[in-house]
Amino acid sequence: MTAICLIIGDPVSHSLSPRMHNAAYRAVGLESSFVYGSARVTSAQLPDAMAAIRTLGVRGVSVTMPHKEAVMAYLDSIDPTAAQLGAVNTIVNERGVLTGYNTDCYGIAKPLAQAIGGDSCEGCGDAPSTEPLNALVLGAGGAARAAAFALRSLNIPFSVTARTDERARDVAIRFGGSTLSWDVRDTAQAKIVINTTPIGMQSKEATAVATDDGQSPPQSPLPHRRWLPSNIAFETIYTPAETPFIVAARAGGASVILGGQMLLWQGVRQFELFTEREAPIESMRDSVEKR
Ligand code: NAP
Repeated sequence: MTAICLIIGDPVSHSLSPRMHNAAYRAVGLESSFVYGSARVTSAQLPDAMAAIRTLGVRGVSVTMPHKEAVMAYLDSIDPTAAQLGAVNTIVNERGVLTGYNTDCYGIAKPLAQAIGGDSCEGCGDAPSTEPLNALVLGAGGAARAAAFALRSLNIPFSVTARTDERARDVAIRFGGSTLSWDVRDTAQAKIVINTTPIGMQSKEATAVATDDGQSPPQSPLPHRRWLPSNIAFETIYTPAETPFIVAARAGGASVILGGQMLLWQGVRQFELFTEREAPIESMRDSVEKR
């Protein structure tokens, strides 16, 4: 019997997850026993979609915007990390019992740990570099919570800044960070900056906020930052691969971590949860990078 895995969200047409997971199945010879597809599911359709997942015995589900919080109500159990984050991006169906996980924090912690000279994060390796580090998280949604969780597990002090102060405060309080006003974000001296806003995303759904002239959308969440070679810019957006945030950071000599790397590592952990096999990391990386 073929195990069916799916990504659900709205929109999902831009998602690289089907390509990445199917490449992984082929790489380990699972292509006749696993198949991964996508389904656009609106918020109104979520109850029916979750019932169908149970009825059809769908093995694994990747969950993307806007359902990461709402799906939690339909699950039988939730792993402690996902419970702390208040968001599920992965569902595993084990003989009709649906368990929710969150692999987004691993998607941030793993490449960040590699970039700071260790290979460390909660459950993923050795001790990190001893150099004093600090971080700024832009945005205060689900990806920001995953970033804050990852930074806490790497012992990196951080501030959160978002256009909605109250949401920034919530994330900071929950994970032990501080807050910074959105208006002064460009002046922050943080060594690591993680963009979790959709500013710079290439999609009509990404952002409707206009610039001062009221015409074009903003290009970067940090339009005036002076980047330094000692900085690390972490982008969560993966379409386009090089956002204006990344282009500016590169121009200043900073190290960069692309959204494709987050996609890869959160997907690696998902693959392992769905198949109970070791993930073919290089095949998955190729499928993301050679698009
Ligand atoms: P979310 O929960 O909707 O949070 C988005 C955050 O960005 C909110 O704080 C929101 O502010 C802020 N924001 C949105 N538009 C803005 C604008 N024009 N100006 C200033 N702030 C703005 O979304 P999410 O689930 O965290 O996802 C955020 C990003 O992470 C998306 O680009 C997504 O593609 C990416 N992501 C990537 C991966 C990966 O594997 N690479 C995985 C997960 C997510 P308000 O609260 O004021 O609305």
